[in-house]
Amino acid sequence: MKYLFILTACIILCSCSSTSNKNTFLTVSSPDERIQVTFFLNENGEPEYFLEKDEKKLVESSKLGFILKDYDFSKDFEIVEKRHSAFDDTWSPVVGVYKSIRNNYNELKITLKEKNDQKRVLDITFRIFNDGIGFRYNIPEQPNISKIEILSEETQFNLAGNYSSWWIPGDFDSYEYVYNRTPVSEVDSANTPISFKTKDGIYLSIHEADLTDYSDMTLKKGAKETLLEANLVPWPDGIKVKGETPFQSPWRTIQIAENAGGLIESSLILNLNEPNEIEDVSWIKPMKYTGIWWSVHLGFETFETGPHHAATTDKTKRMIDWASKLGIEGVLVEGWNKGWDKRNKSKEIPDFLQATDDYNLEILADYAKSKNVELIMHHETFGNIEHYEKNLIPSFEMMKELGISYVKGGYAGKINPSEQYKHGQFMVRHYRKQLETAAKYGIMLNIHEPIKQTGIQRTYPNFMTAEGVRGMEFEAWSEGNPPSHTVTIPFTRMLAGPVDYNAGIFDIQFESIDEKEFNWRKPKKKYPKNPGPSVKTTLAKQLALHVVLFSPLQMSPDLPENYHDHPAFKFIQDVDVVWDDTKVLNAEIGEFITVARKGKDSPEWFIGSMTNEEPRNFKIPLSFLDNNKKYKATIYKDGVEAHWEDNPTSYEITEQEVTNETILDIALAAGGGQAISISPIY
Ligand code: CA
Repeated sequence: MKYLFILTACIILCSCSSTSNKNTFLTVSSPDERIQVTFFLNENGEPEYFLEKDEKKLVESSKLGFILKDYDFSKDFEIVEKRHSAFDDTWSPVVGVYKSIRNNYNELKITLKEKNDQKRVLDITFRIFNDGIGFRYNIPEQPNISKIEILSEETQFNLAGNYSSWWIPGDFDSYEYVYNRTPVSEVDSANTPISFKTKDGIYLSIHEADLTDYSDMTLKKGAKETLLEANLVPWPDGIKVKGETPFQSPWRTIQIAENAGGLIESSLILNLNEPNEIEDVSWIKPMKYTGIWWSVHLGFETFETGPHHAATTDKTKRMIDWASKLGIEGVLVEGWNKGWDKRNKSKEIPDFLQATDDYNLEILADYAKSKNVELIMHHETFGNIEHYEKNLIPSFEMMKELGISYVKGGYAGKINPSEQYKHGQFMVRHYRKQLETAAKYGIMLNIHEPIKQTGIQRTYPNFMTAEGVRGMEFEAWSEGNPPSHTVTIPFTRMLAGPVDYNAGIFDIQFESIDEKEFNWRKPKKKYPKNPGPSVKTTLAKQLALHVVLFSPLQMSPDLPENYHDHPAFKFIQDVDVVWDDTKVLNAEIGEFITVARKGKDSPEWFIGSMTNEEPRNFKIPLSFLDNNKKYKATIYKDGVEAHWEDNPTSYEITEQEVTNETILDIALAAGGGQAISISPIY
């Protein structure tokens, strides 16, 4: 009798679930049919999805939905509508790494309605591309919802294995970390992009696209060791996101690739953003720039006024002269304005309109113009957001009067109001307000301490580049960045968007400050003598970073005297900063990468190849070059005895004729790299 009962229960259960299966399992596949998402409602009416590639699960059943302040909006749903559609279009980015980008996906939009008497509606849209998926929530206008206060986004990423993971902690205020490499079971919290490799050699990366009026999604460990869950950055009152209907979340994205380079070649994040909003883009100009930045980080000069102030009229004129002589288009000057000496003491600093007494902004703006150099404005906010927002329009107006079109933003220290996190919705709104206002005034942005990028540069191409990474500055005053760091960030941070890393240090061991030509700086101190910090790459790897790390504003950060007459500087002069094509020729996350990029409106190609602590040899076929054409390759390579630790500046420059049948032998030193420029021989 007992056995019979169990059997009956099972039949009832099975028949129930098979009925509901029939009604609620919805699938949508990529255009090439290799990636598939299945959506369903479980027995509690909770929305779930799972993700497969070639019929193998990459993400197991994972929940969706929200806990709102007044009710649980993640259960008791029924499906009331489903719409399938397909999209295929090609578009051209204003600044980017391709001349044109194909946006091709299949979409499934599901409308869910609560089964209770409130009958509230939630839409979930999936877009499936050949290189990954995106999904987003929409809460349409409806009678029983107006105000939205999210306590928790219930989105899960229930990974189907204990994947190798490259991640930084889910800090709500900073992305400036060295990446960890661990099994996903050891990830407690993470900021995105977080990248993975499965046992089958599939590469994944979780991030988001179109973060417009929402808070940053970090991830935290769920109830199972390979389960990651959305953890949104809160407002001071604990609410994560505030809004009204019609309401939409950013896209939650999972990039999928069969090799590590595929993550970099993907345009999924950009494809999930809105098209360009700026009609006349003729003023948007990528360029190379230099500045006083490195000298201050090394401790020779100061941002603050005083005997070693870097931002003086005379020193800036010298920097403009140097830029003009070296062929660098822009000069960035931080510490030009009043208030730096009062940092952390006042919420009304700095002064975004008033230069320090030793810096004549008008004279320098004219001087830069006479030398055909762009003077780059600097807006360090010290986190005083309300003060900066009051000054946003006046400062942009002043820039336009002076003919200045570029600004670097900075958000050092805590945010005022101090209870706000740097990555919360309050700051997302601030960064967007700054970007949209800049677009109106014809101003291009480079933001340090930014909100992470999510492809907004497609919509506002005046967003040129951003930091949001543990960059070169750490090499000046901390234990620095290990050789593996620069071969990890192309597969993690760079998937979000352009990186203002500030590579290009030539005086790697900080040796040359004692030489006479530096005396005009009146340095505060001498270069640290051995043993001391130094940049943890070879010189050739510094060059390769200018190809591998995409940044439409690309800095040549070293003291200009270190570039002057240096044969390797020719590469930095020749290399482009935006591209018509990009190919990752070989790659393994945290180990090595070789990227070829084709110059914008140019027949020239540039290759950057880099390794971590391991020396490596590659054979690189140049099959991407045009047929029946001869090219000259100029090769900037590690010296035979080069090593990042004790012989980083050993390099050689060689030339050879190549065609698309050439297979190049590339030898990289430990912590080394190689940079190659390839131009047609006419
Ligand atoms: Ca920084």
